[in-house]
Amino acid sequence: MIKAVRGTRDLLPPDTALWNFVEAAARDVFRAYNFQEIRTPIFEETQLFSRSVGEETDIVSKEMFTWEDRGRAQSDKGQSLTLRPENTAGVVRAYVEHKLWERGLNKLYYIGPQFRRERPQKGRYRQFYQIGAEVIGPPTAGSESPARDAEIIELLATFLDRLGIAGWNLELNSVGCPNDRASFNEALRKALRPVVSKMCADCQRRAVTNPLRVFDCKVPEDQPIIAKLPRISQFLDEPCRKHFRELQGILNSVGVPFAINDRLVRGLDYYTRTAFEFTHGALGAQNAVLGGGRYDGLSESLGGPSAPGIGFAIGEDRLVMSLKESAEPVLRRPDVYIAPLGPGMNREAARLARELRRHDLVVELGDESFRLKKSFETATRVGAKFTLIVGENEVKADSFAVKNLETGEQVSVRRQELVARIQSDR
Ligand code: ATP
Ligand code: MG
Repeated sequence: MIKAVRGTRDLLPPDTALWNFVEAAARDVFRAYNFQEIRTPIFEETQLFSRSVGEETDIVSKEMFTWEDRGRAQSDKGQSLTLRPENTAGVVRAYVEHKLWERGLNKLYYIGPQFRRERPQKGRYRQFYQIGAEVIGPPTAGSESPARDAEIIELLATFLDRLGIAGWNLELNSVGCPNDRASFNEALRKALRPVVSKMCADCQRRAVTNPLRVFDCKVPEDQPIIAKLPRISQFLDEPCRKHFRELQGILNSVGVPFAINDRLVRGLDYYTRTAFEFTHGALGAQNAVLGGGRYDGLSESLGGPSAPGIGFAIGEDRLVMSLKESAEPVLRRPDVYIAPLGPGMNREAARLARELRRHDLVVELGDESFRLKKSFETATRVGAKFTLIVGENEVKADSFAVKNLETGEQVSVRRQELVARIQSDR
């Protein structure tokens, strides 16, 4: 038997209804904040990710699905391609490639699959889904303003609240700008020198190549060492401090609660200044529902113009998981099961079904070969609220037996009154 590949999974009903509910709610919220949708390819040139996400990140150094695409001729050197591990790089590439600033497109959202070769476990898959958004634009358009950071974060709080997800926490930090990063890296290297030999192999490498990444380390034995390292908060220059203060001021003003976590650096190299994460207690070890941050230099590092930006990515798999703990079922049961009874009744039943569905009723349709008992059993199995019987007598009288499957009550209803009758009990 062929099974789904390790780390991938089929999303089946009724869960898919929950996924659609989440995506519809996201689209509603994005509309209210005037975001528009972008869809980028699920694979890109490998160097897009190595240049933006960063060579030394977990994503690029170990988690990407990369392959060499064959050239046209046998002798052609292939091109290195990669399944997208995240979507910000693709969006910014599209922003640069299509000069989206010329069309005033600066608020974009996406919904789609991402791919990372990670060890599969609860809340961690090799194909997973993200809902994300980016605000990006020329500095003259105010894209650098902390007002944008606050708006993005407030949007997220609104979205989670609207989904009914209670008990989320927002952790906030500023990771500074290249200006602060140099002195911070130097201080980190210095602090790491005497202790790094006691740390994991990854940290020993990071200490040399990209010391900030030490904060990504999840090895428990390394944590006491990391806890004593200098924090970026001590190295922020005045413009970065001011930006961070203003962001906090707006969040306080709109009533979005947050906690400062000056160890939060997030696993992507392109972040500058604001970095944040929303966590949820019910998720267990993989408790980050979403992460985001500012990336003021990303466009330029991809050959574009100066275009400061900020964005986030929600882990939809984890969001749906936390919803399952709390949300009301969003599945709509069939309103009515139509049971054609006897030869020739499929035709009549089809006409009735068409009519009822036009009135936005959810209709499940049986078959004239079914006995009445089988029809009732099927109607109960699919969870219909009513069974409507379509037999020769009913058609002649233009009046149909409608049975409420919850109360057992059965009444005869004239054709013109069917819709009203069924809707009234919805
Ligand atoms: P983590 O620390 O959990 O590995 P991350 O920092 O790698 O997360 P990001 O790259 O910031 O995650 O992606 C944003 C969100 O996407 C995460 O907060 C998480 O909800 C989700 N996510 C990331 N990787 C996976 C995965 N392999 N499976 C499911 N969801 C994921
Ligand atoms: Mg990760």
